[in-house]
Amino acid sequence: MANWSIRAIALGANFIMKEAITVGLDVGLQIWFPYLAFFLTDGKRKILVDCGISENWIVDGKAWGGFPAYGGTEYALKEFEKAKINPQEIEMVLYTHLHNDHTGCSHLFDRAIHVFQWDEWQELINPLPSMRLRKDYNPGVIPVFEKLQCWKIDGDMRLMDGIMVYKTPGHTAGGMCIGVETTKGTYLLTGDTAHIYQNLFSQCSEMTLLSGETIRITPAPPVYGPFVPSSLVYDHYAWYRSLYRMRALCPSMEFALPSHEPTIAGRTFPE
Ligand SMILES: [Zn+2]
Repeated sequence: MANWSIRAIALGANFIMKEAITVGLDVGLQIWFPYLAFFLTDGKRKILVDCGISENWIVDGKAWGGFPAYGGTEYALKEFEKAKINPQEIEMVLYTHLHNDHTGCSHLFDRAIHVFQWDEWQELINPLPSMRLRKDYNPGVIPVFEKLQCWKIDGDMRLMDGIMVYKTPGHTAGGMCIGVETTKGTYLLTGDTAHIYQNLFSQCSEMTLLSGETIRITPAPPVYGPFVPSSLVYDHYAWYRSLYRMRALCPSMEFALPSHEPTIAGRTFPE
């Protein structure tokens, strides 16, 4: 078992309605959800998973859905400095998917190899009209990626000792989870296949916010089953298949780390 550690770093946040992320639950509740990046290291190698939102995609302080947001390059650089991460030392950036809030700072990693699914690239360069309407993808990153060294992979792959990627479509066509082996077991970075814990645990009843305050949230009625979809699932059949698959990829769903879960911002795993 490889000996990686995982640090969840908030590269900004978006103040959005929880019902957009957990359909039908806590209607009217608005929360700051972080844009998480994950720094992985085994003591020698340094990898980043996702890289926040672009300042060009925050207009008048508002981002996706017209909701207030903060982040961008300057904000990310300060957070990397606080975490003692030098972008020039990152050898690989893995993208759970290419939505605007996961690709914003890719230009900072010009020495790295950038890894994402081929299907995700196709969706970025040719999104459906509904995706254009929602501004899910930022076409401004296409010329950035064209200048960087990219691996457009197809399906599952063991990238190096202790780091695996698994294609998990549903939220997008080329979504992938990252498996990270640690001394305590294999963690799974879910991307937006699960935005927050409640997508994975329908009975979830509390959430710790970025402010540190813990709030009560509404457990899903039994009709939901084990998982709660977001309003951003483009293929529900694929999404449910991906969720059942994810269950088999880590020791338990407790090892899953969703990419907008405020409870895990700033924490290191294994703890
Ligand atoms: Zn997304």
